[in-house]
Amino acid sequence: MFKNLKAAGRSAGPIPSRYLWPALLLLAIAAVWLLGGLDWLNPSAQARWGPAVNLSVLLLLAGMLFVGLQQRRTGQKFRDQGMLLSGITDHLGAGVIVVDGLGAMAFSNPEARRLLGFSATQLEEMSFLELLLVGPTEEDSPPVASPASAAQWKNYSGEAWLKTNDNQSLPVDLTITPLRQIDSGAFFVAVFIDIRDRIEAKQQLRALAYYDTLTGLANRSLFFDRVRVAIRRARRAKRGLVVLVADLDNFKQINDSYGHASGDELLAKVAQILQSCIRESDTVCRLGGDEFAILLESVDAAQDVMHLAKTISAALGQPVTVQEGEVHTSASIGIAFFPQDGESVEDLLKNADVALYRAKETGLGSYQFFTPDMARAVVERLNIEQRLRAGIEGNHGLTLCFQPKVDLRDGRVLGFEALARWNDGGRALAPAQFIPIAEKAGLIGAIGLRVLRDACSACIAWQERFPGAGVAVNLSAVQFRDARLPQTIARTLAETGLPGHLLELELTESILLGQFDQVNETLTNLRQLGCMLSIDDFGTGYSSLAYLQRFSVNVLKIDKSFIDGLDTEVSEVTGNTLVAAILAMAHALKLGVVAEGVEHAGQLDVLRRLTQEVPISVQGYVYSRPVALDEVLFSLPLSFELFSNHIEL
Ligand code: C2E
Ligand code: MG
Ligand code: MG
Repeated sequence: MFKNLKAAGRSAGPIPSRYLWPALLLLAIAAVWLLGGLDWLNPSAQARWGPAVNLSVLLLLAGMLFVGLQQRRTGQKFRDQGMLLSGITDHLGAGVIVVDGLGAMAFSNPEARRLLGFSATQLEEMSFLELLLVGPTEEDSPPVASPASAAQWKNYSGEAWLKTNDNQSLPVDLTITPLRQIDSGAFFVAVFIDIRDRIEAKQQLRALAYYDTLTGLANRSLFFDRVRVAIRRARRAKRGLVVLVADLDNFKQINDSYGHASGDELLAKVAQILQSCIRESDTVCRLGGDEFAILLESVDAAQDVMHLAKTISAALGQPVTVQEGEVHTSASIGIAFFPQDGESVEDLLKNADVALYRAKETGLGSYQFFTPDMARAVVERLNIEQRLRAGIEGNHGLTLCFQPKVDLRDGRVLGFEALARWNDGGRALAPAQFIPIAEKAGLIGAIGLRVLRDACSACIAWQERFPGAGVAVNLSAVQFRDARLPQTIARTLAETGLPGHLLELELTESILLGQFDQVNETLTNLRQLGCMLSIDDFGTGYSSLAYLQRFSVNVLKIDKSFIDGLDTEVSEVTGNTLVAAILAMAHALKLGVVAEGVEHAGQLDVLRRLTQEVPISVQGYVYSRPVALDEVLFSLPLSFELFSNHIEL
């Protein structure tokens, strides 16, 4: 058409039909008049037809003149239109391509050629279909399908991808409009504008909405979408699928010790490791924090999943290098199967989480398959968590009881250990039941603070009856890692008026395994407050004894399991030898010793024999169970001397 329009500028084009018919009518009338006067050569007829002939010749000439004039006017109009249109398309900020009915590109404007990188001649030799990929696709990337069919593009308005000369895909906003039939064929005009910026912005938004910026993995919402789609597919195909949840075991510790930058680096590396363990068709996502989830499609055999869980555990068990150095991490994994463990993404993730929780309890770096029993345990855990929260808010539930530590030589009460209980009117809870839950739920700080305050106040209260008897408070690893711990203790001592040396802080061996500098700094700060430091459950934690030298603690509390192993009959058995060795080591390192969980007089006897002259304290049912403060203040014996005297040396 554009060629025609351009040509119209040079020569007159065809007459439009609305002028043609009147002109033809005039010519026809003139012809009839002429035919009617065929014998006009006859003189009489000449006289008769003369005026008619003259008139018909006149009409013929007028018709021809009219047709000629119209042709000139139309030609001028076409010439003007052609120039106007080509002027417009030359300067248009959009690509314009005119396609004929066979798909050939009869015309292209400069913008179309610039965007596509083809010359006008190249385009004329190509079919428009070769250029066109109609989109958009889900991922905002060029559709992989072959060019769309002609039927699709003859009336199209929307996003599309055009192939450029350098074999790239150009995203465009494309409108294809059929034009009226011109000359010998149907024409279509394709107008398109470059939308690369828009697509890029869309992709960025999409990345923000669906991908985790730190690791580049799918985020929670994309993972949920993918699992939902996978569930639909699995249902149709009557197949199973698996959701794994993996959580780093010591991430908080690493984050606290090495800093957040290293923590982030570790997470990014873990993401890579996880991705390297799975197939391309599976999805890994970061659910948040240090928790990752994996969707495995088309896996039915537990054996395969077990194999993958082992592979992941082994891969994450290797040290990871971050800027600050090498970090040792491990991941616990929980596994849930569709459909037996849940039919929705929410249920599958919830149950995989339940299994993960159990895996953490089992031991670091392990994996667990979900079972319905586990779900019951979780309900129980949530119930306890609720009770703890309500108790903390309402300042009720927590009580302390105190167990005396007695001098083995003379039965004198040297101090008490404060032991927490939870009694809010429901079933009473032992610390083993609620302390781990409080730690996980972030409630241990509040509980620990109340224990500390109540224990210090109680210690002040019993000074009159037990002068110089201190109080020992257990610290959880979570409390110890809180950088504000020394200030909290200093404030509590100041508020309650308890001298620092009457407060003993019981730490577990695992606490001391954290980052050396940080642990050392906290211990130094605590010692500066005058507090005594003891290692609780000694011998049950990490086997390295190096920390005894590195950190100067005051007391070792020999764990009940060693005391249980004491043999009252024969003295040369392993159990006795072990305790003797611990006593000798503590003596050499000038550490005080408390024997925990002593239940029988016979055990006291063996301890006396083993310790000889070395002073040790004994804590156990043999003297007293943990008792309420009132009992300490009013009825507990001042000394267990009498009982000690019963023991024959
Ligand atoms: P632990 O610090 O080693 O406390 C000694 C535990 O042994 C206490 O259990 C005590 O009641 C028990 N026990 C003492 N003598 C005997 C005995 O002769 N025989 C037997 N069978 N048991 C004896 P409890 O009170 O259940 O506390 C258990 C653990 O809970 C404590 O072990 C401690 O690690 C933790 N815990 C207790 N209170 C707190 C607290 O306020 N904060 C923190 N973080 N942990 C606490
Ligand atoms: Mg303790
Ligand atoms: Mg203990």
